[in-house]
Amino acid sequence: MAELDQNSLQPKPVLLLVLDGIRPDVLRAAIRAGEAPNLGALAEAGEAVWDAVSVFPSITPAATAAIATGEAPAKSGIVGHAWYDEDERRVIVYGAMTETVMATGPIKVFHNNVWRMNRDDLYASTLFETLHERGFDGACVNFPVRRGPHTHKIRMKTVEGYRRGGRYLGASVEGPKEYYMGDLFYSRETGFSGRKANGGLFQSVGINDEYAAQIGAMLVKEKAAPFNLVYFFKGDSIAHHHGLEAQRQWVAKADGYIARIFRAGGGVDQVLEDYVVLALSDHGHAPLNPNRRYVDLRKILNQNVSSGVKARFGNGTTIVVVPNGRSALLYLRDDVELRSIVEGLVGRRGVDLAAWREGEWGVVRRMGRELRFRPGSQVADTYGDSWELDGDPRALDLTVSGDTVRYGDYPDALERLWGCLHSPRCGDVVLSATPGYTFGEVSGGYHTASDHGSLHASDSEVFVLASGLPEDVPAPRRITDVAPTLLRHFGTRDVAQPVGDRGL
Ligand SMILES: [Zn+2]
Repeated sequence: MAELDQNSLQPKPVLLLVLDGIRPDVLRAAIRAGEAPNLGALAEAGEAVWDAVSVFPSITPAATAAIATGEAPAKSGIVGHAWYDEDERRVIVYGAMTETVMATGPIKVFHNNVWRMNRDDLYASTLFETLHERGFDGACVNFPVRRGPHTHKIRMKTVEGYRRGGRYLGASVEGPKEYYMGDLFYSRETGFSGRKANGGLFQSVGINDEYAAQIGAMLVKEKAAPFNLVYFFKGDSIAHHHGLEAQRQWVAKADGYIARIFRAGGGVDQVLEDYVVLALSDHGHAPLNPNRRYVDLRKILNQNVSSGVKARFGNGTTIVVVPNGRSALLYLRDDVELRSIVEGLVGRRGVDLAAWREGEWGVVRRMGRELRFRPGSQVADTYGDSWELDGDPRALDLTVSGDTVRYGDYPDALERLWGCLHSPRCGDVVLSATPGYTFGEVSGGYHTASDHGSLHASDSEVFVLASGLPEDVPAPRRITDVAPTLLRHFGTRDVAQPVGDRGL
């Protein structure tokens, strides 16, 4: 049953706040120290899940697509910052750090991130699309996955970079009814210019958190739409460059942004009364070793590796490697023996585990141990999924007792690996890095303080704060639960996948 508003017999509107890359323990520490009173009030008023889980790879494009569609990479189509397109025979880069952006060419990354990802690569329906079909309009501020039923013309005519790329970038995008992305897209005049801040590709077109707070406040003040999605992304890059303590300081600032949105709606109590409010992060963060943190996959023994933004097969290339932070996607030439590659890589410093597909099975190898798994009825996990296992469960730090299986260091590992390995875009072998290490970016650079992307709890766990959901609708425990949860709230249930339908 949807939670009905007394006056209009409509479900309460939803305010979904996504804070990129904020670790649950960082937010919790900030709340305990009184540095985040608004997020604290939200946690207090509703349900707080401190060990909710991201998808694998635990990286922004894959995770934001999972939030917006309810689907893991195999079904959303969005697998990471970068992947190798075997049909187009080239690496597709949505962009991560500035170096990657520069190496690929800003206009091209911008095109890929803003246009291509939503228009061409995203298979699954977004909440904006599904809710529109049910008669509920959406509003989106800065969130990267925003495909919807309304056409929005590009507004920005003045930035030189845009003009030069004018023929490359499309003239419009498809989005929700209200769509705001800095000075690039705004569905109506707001009087807010995002272009005060400078530095970085997105900043240069006014896409920043200050702007998100202003527009978010406007939307709540006007009660503009039944479904409102506001995205704050700076906390992620702060952790990448300056570590978790700096991220905690940013959380206090983010709480101020959220305070502004709450004030616009009549104060925190009023907003929690009027809205279903969800706040969550898309992935966590794993601090990196001060030295020797970079695992260079451009060299693999006895193999001719092609890596970087121009990686492709040809000239004797046997493997294309596409690093995605603390995960990496490996594409093998047909005659390359997968198992010898895996055995050479697992056991290398910083390579925690490798996973791949063998027929109907997913296979994972870690510390000389191997486990095969597939959906089945042998054991049930704590997320309600059932599996058939073959081999050593310790390969994934699993504990099997009777017909139940519990996760250790790799939360929801079976479903998350399954939801990655079944995308051809993920390549033939997927690697996850040991805590403290990173495979870096497709450009060859790497972050220094903290990174994410792995299957490990450190960068996989996220927080979910949920207030105002109907009593029979629990708070999401996985980021893929967010869309089905909200559709249940709005009285539509047909997005959730039955357990038996998780194959190709
Ligand atoms: Zn990041």
